Amino acid sequence: MSNKYDVVVLGGGPGGYAAAIRAAQLGAKVALIEKDKLGGVCLNRGCIPTKAIIACTSLFEKFQKAESFGISAGKPTIDLAKVIERKNTLVAKIVKNLQGLIEKNKIEIINGNGKVIAPGNIEVTLNNGSKLSVVSSKLIIATGSVPSCLPGLSFDKDRYLCSDDALELKEAPAKITIVGGGVIGIHFAAIYSTLGSEVTIYEALPEILTGIDEEVVALVKRILNRKKVKVLTGTRFDPAQAKGKTLICVGRTPNIMGLETLGLKMSKRSVWVSEKMETSVKGVYAVGDVCSQTMLAHVAYEQGVVAAENALGGNRTFNYDCIPIGIYTNPEIGAVGLTEKAAREKGINVSIGKFPFGALGISQAMGEIEGFVKFVCDEKGKILGVHIIGPEATSLIGTAALAIKNNLSIEQIAETFQSHPSYPEGLQEAAEAVLKRALHIFN
Ligand code: FAD
Repeated sequence: MSNKYDVVVLGGGPGGYAAAIRAAQLGAKVALIEKDKLGGVCLNRGCIPTKAIIACTSLFEKFQKAESFGISAGKPTIDLAKVIERKNTLVAKIVKNLQGLIEKNKIEIINGNGKVIAPGNIEVTLNNGSKLSVVSSKLIIATGSVPSCLPGLSFDKDRYLCSDDALELKEAPAKITIVGGGVIGIHFAAIYSTLGSEVTIYEALPEILTGIDEEVVALVKRILNRKKVKVLTGTRFDPAQAKGKTLICVGRTPNIMGLETLGLKMSKRSVWVSEKMETSVKGVYAVGDVCSQTMLAHVAYEQGVVAAENALGGNRTFNYDCIPIGIYTNPEIGAVGLTEKAAREKGINVSIGKFPFGALGISQAMGEIEGFVKFVCDEKGKILGVHIIGPEATSLIGTAALAIKNNLSIEQIAETFQSHPSYPEGLQEAAEAVLKRALHIFN
């Protein structure tokens, strides 16, 4: 049996399904091959599951402060098994909705493991064991990534866990060691410390959260310290001394299984792509974690759209200049563009504007006073980066990304007045602070 398509997408995560939908919107006959669940890591084992759990732990923390809001609700407790059950229910619902959306776009979903035989020829081992040959003019590879382990160790779902395993734990461990102080490790440190686990983070590099503004990291460390999380930077994890469960969050490995026959050019462990998302083989594109310099779902979405358009005759490019980052600690972190340190290292004479959330009326009213907004500009006022730690930081950073992407000046941000009382006032005030004229702090 053979099936012929204009575009075949291998992998149904954010990169793959975005590519498939855009190709279908452009009128192509499209097939999407997925061996597991639609939505990939992001929906099933990443962004959404972690946020579903964090929604519960954040609410639990809020309940712990209920007395200060005049509410007596007794001593709150949290049941991790129920938190996981809620997470699984909502993930299943979103996966089902996504399947409906893909079908509405008249994309054929092929449930099976795809192996590339030649650029326009894929053999799929269907979930029932039979084989299907799929032929297409254009191929978009979106096979994602898998958790990396430490040399000499392997994930056993008991002593050594990966993030997939941690998202299924129904009881918080009394003690947990987290190896890796990157975004994923810090997410789990925030979750388990709130659940009452004794958390130790090992980070081999001199600092946690590489690439995040130094002042933001300093505040994260103070908050972790307050939650009794031990942060050991510049320290390699020694398995011989590990006690309790160990969660290994040392990065992810691009998934290139089934692509071998293509002989693709590689960039370290990732598939090499041009700025048009085309691989070294003409007509074969790659998107998302399998090729990306930044492993984020919104990067995968955008790359998927760019690849689909180019596969169908478009001329789009993808660049990494303005990528917003969200970290869902409590309070949240949002970042886009250059950090102060990176700007100084480039020899730029930087100008900084910083505004503390504590000086905003809304923060006081909501009891969310920790954190700040920080603008990094050059001497002419060009916005180079924005760094936020505080309430709704992951949403606020969207406005900052819009400003940087569209070359808005610091005056334009300062003069766009915001509704009162609201958190976006923090952005406006920090922009005013660059110009030494913030209203609610002494400049
Ligand atoms: P994936 O999501 O990995 O999807 C690839 C798909 O391809 C999978 O479904 C896989 O089954 C399928 N596949 C692979 N090989 C084959 C084959 N041969 N045949 C058929 N199917 C195949 N990013 C954010 O932007 N924000 C966040 O808050 C965030 N939180 C995260 C939290 C955690 C714990 C983790 C692990 C990741 C998080 N990420 C987050 C990263 C995000 O999940 C990934 O960047 C994103 O899922 C990458 O999308 P993708 O389409 O490239 O690949």
